Amino acid sequence: MKAAIESFAAKINFPLDNIFVMDGSKRSAKANAFFSGIGKKKKIVLYDTLIKNHSTEELVAVLAHEVGHFKKKHIIWSYLLSIIQIFFTLFILSLMVFNKDLSIALGGSLQAIHLNLLAFGILFSPISGITGLLMSLYSRKNEFEADAYARQTYSGKALTDALKKLSVDSLSNLYPHPLYVFFRYSHPPLLKRLKAIQSVR
Ligand SMILES: [Zn+2]
Repeated sequence: MKAAIESFAAKINFPLDNIFVMDGSKRSAKANAFFSGIGKKKKIVLYDTLIKNHSTEELVAVLAHEVGHFKKKHIIWSYLLSIIQIFFTLFILSLMVFNKDLSIALGGSLQAIHLNLLAFGILFSPISGITGLLMSLYSRKNEFEADAYARQTYSGKALTDALKKLSVDSLSNLYPHPLYVFFRYSHPPLLKRLKAIQSVR
């Protein structure tokens, strides 16, 4: 398995430094894989649950998907977008927190920061609903791209098998309502992903 991972990393010029296995089974039955490290030394971490339930090909396909996020710059963009989101939130807060009119509208007789914080909590939820929706849209687009990357650089068949197993293990809904997916899902539903993998050349 180590050799398969290393040969894949070499093929796509991934700066692999080391591979670790994490005893994820001590905490949960969920299977996962990720890599960490900045610059030219990346560490790949595999959950023991992932190794136990998947063939070597499926495992490399899952890694290829994660590498796809890295190569397509999804990681750095998600990071930047969340920083922008934080600044935006703080900007809205700064407009509201010392606003006397807002305190009076909520029944105060003078400027009251605690009333304004309450107003912020109420009025910000529709805004965060919209930013959350945009982030989910962006995230789902990225998932399709990472799947396509794994299909192109490694194997669509192995990725398909791995996704099916992961979906069974996480008891995911095969037919979620499209509207619910639109508003809530950070990952596209399994059947959509499988169809997209098949259609990539
Ligand atoms: Zn992904």
